[in-house]
Amino acid sequence: MRGAPGGPRVLLRRLREIMAEPLPAQARLDRITILIAANMVSEVCSLYVMRADGTLELYATEGLNREAVHLTTMRAGEGLVGLIAANADPLALSDAQTHPAFSYRPETGEESYHGFLGVPVLRAGNTLGVLVVQNKTHRVYTEEEVEALQTTSMILAELIASGELQSLGEPGTETAARRPLQIRGAALVDGLGLGYVVLHEPRIVVRNIIAADSDAEILRLDAAIEEVRLSIDAMLERGDIAHGGEHRDVLETFRMFAHDQGWLRRMREAVRTGITAEAAVERVQSDSRARLMRSTDPFLRERLHDLDELANRLLHRLVGVDLVATRENLPENAIIVARMMGPAALLDYDRSRLRGLVLEEGGQTSHIAIVARALNIPVVSEVENAASLVEAGDAVIVDGGAGEIHVRPPPDIEAAYAEKARLRARRQAQYRLLRDKPAVTRDGVEIALQLNAGLLVDLPHLEETGARGIGLFRTELQFMIAERMPSAKDQQALYASVFEGAGGLPVTFRSLDIGGDKLLPYMPRVEEENPALGWRAIRIALDRPALLRTQARALLKAAAGRHLRIMFPMVATTAEFLQAKRFVEGELAFLTAHGSAVPAEISLGAMVEVPSLLFEIDEIAAAADFLSVGSNDLMQFLFAVDRGNKLVADRFDPLSLPSMRALRLVAGRATAVGCPVTVCGELAGRPLDAMALIGLGFRSLSMSAAAIGPVKAMILALDGARLADLVETELRGLDGGGDNLRPILSDFAARHGIPV
Ligand code: PEP
Ligand code: MG
Repeated sequence: MRGAPGGPRVLLRRLREIMAEPLPAQARLDRITILIAANMVSEVCSLYVMRADGTLELYATEGLNREAVHLTTMRAGEGLVGLIAANADPLALSDAQTHPAFSYRPETGEESYHGFLGVPVLRAGNTLGVLVVQNKTHRVYTEEEVEALQTTSMILAELIASGELQSLGEPGTETAARRPLQIRGAALVDGLGLGYVVLHEPRIVVRNIIAADSDAEILRLDAAIEEVRLSIDAMLERGDIAHGGEHRDVLETFRMFAHDQGWLRRMREAVRTGITAEAAVERVQSDSRARLMRSTDPFLRERLHDLDELANRLLHRLVGVDLVATRENLPENAIIVARMMGPAALLDYDRSRLRGLVLEEGGQTSHIAIVARALNIPVVSEVENAASLVEAGDAVIVDGGAGEIHVRPPPDIEAAYAEKARLRARRQAQYRLLRDKPAVTRDGVEIALQLNAGLLVDLPHLEETGARGIGLFRTELQFMIAERMPSAKDQQALYASVFEGAGGLPVTFRSLDIGGDKLLPYMPRVEEENPALGWRAIRIALDRPALLRTQARALLKAAAGRHLRIMFPMVATTAEFLQAKRFVEGELAFLTAHGSAVPAEISLGAMVEVPSLLFEIDEIAAAADFLSVGSNDLMQFLFAVDRGNKLVADRFDPLSLPSMRALRLVAGRATAVGCPVTVCGELAGRPLDAMALIGLGFRSLSMSAAAIGPVKAMILALDGARLADLVETELRGLDGGGDNLRPILSDFAARHGIPV
């Protein structure tokens, strides 16, 4: 390589030595720039560090005026340095001064230099600064020299990210690498969490950068690539995914990338500059990230995850770090940050130390959301690049209600959130005081408050909240988080544990509500135009009775000697209910004939969540032992709004005339024929909406654990008779032209001091 005394390998070794010396930060930087300038045979070497506001500040220079250090700044996009930062691409020019972006700074004394080579200082694809060398001559920098400077910049990236330079900048400024960030994502699970970042399946930080023997490193790299390729092939050949589907697509993409010649060539070239195989993987990946992150093509941006995952697999092989190490020794106040995560992985962490979860991917109905909700862990998802923007140990706040996170929060933000968290805790403590108070209105109307549950981790909430039982046990949750279909024996054991955990309180099991958005990973996927209206819930049960029969038998056995309550989801006609009932009766007859112990009592109910049932309400109330209104689906089908579609989800109010009339019909007719009725959708857990339900005549509500306290507080302050009068009058008086009970009920609550 031209004019590089000792070449890049010597430079890297010398840099390592300087990094290890006990020097003040500025002295270290000055030594580094002198060394790079000498090694690159350049008169100038300067380091610009990106500040939190995006400007680039000159932090050190050899060759330019030293007085300009910490004074000269460039805005992003300004000058050649700003251009390199904005594009995250190296720039080599034989005459910098003729470049249109050249910006002359008299204080630096730059006018006499022509040859210019600048590279971005990147870490995980984020630009932390710019490293520049300059020559008086019209020097043409070779590709190898560009490579060498890029490799050198990796070491500077490590230095900047370590926070060591933080104190050097102009007072009041912060480096971009450590700046506070406020990032919006999607609100997935409500709650506030303050703590410190723990990276789930952490990106491996390469510390061993300099290679002793490049040929040996190439061999290591090739061997690791071969191993990764073979493992992908093995996964593809495994029977369980060979039939196609999403897993296969992902793996096929992996395989394509793993065989990409350009990617391999870039990594080999990087090794030849004198770095280790793992440092080469990291460097090439950081460059690809920087490029893909700036791409506006959504397809290309999507590929970023695949490439990241592949690079991580390679790093694993090379560095041999165990990914799950942090699980057992999770620090206190941990906030897990992950690209994505399966539900089983979350259950592996020690709940008592977990304060929150931040995800790059994961929707409302994702399995991770279900489990996090059960564990009461605040979650913000859809936080782009979350795992790359934070470092392990960073302070972070998760605001699950607002769908926002604060990384490295400034003291005022941290104090505000700490206060908010204290207030929440105080409120929770007040709700806990209500635990043993019966939920009775001021005029003596008793409301049965029950819990919605679905996992064993939900059961302790019964004790904590003082709920009267489990009004909705979503049996499909256990199926959704399992690796394979739970056997009859597994199911029986699970249901027995539920009875055990409920300690004699009633539990209403809902038969499998799968299909639609609730897919079982191990069941073949059926392509449907409209899955919400498709083959799901009781429809699958009636078409594939083996599923329902197995579940019913497991429930009947687990409930031996107890009261078993089962309800069927998505019932559209009374005939469907009766058919499902016959299957359960068939299983009961079978067990009895074989001398098995059976439940002391059995109640079979129907969920009212398909509007057709409103027009058969008398028949279903007569046929079923109880009814339960699934308001989530009922509203979805009543108003024809997809419950998961943000564009329309808030378009109609459940407290408006059509839904209030529908709900009044159910409450009225069920009560008239003496059929017990509960509301178990989200509506029942929101205090004002729950108040409306009580006003319509509902006396039993089932909700999430977190909702019990607020709803009970509302009930204790309520005058039931006055509310019923108001609702009746208003419903009669509403003109149907868009009228809504919400403002009227809010006003009622405000006037009577009812907390809603
Ligand atoms: C509902 O639809 O309101 C309900 C309780 O069931 P799920 O939310 O599980 O569909
Ligand atoms: Mg439903």
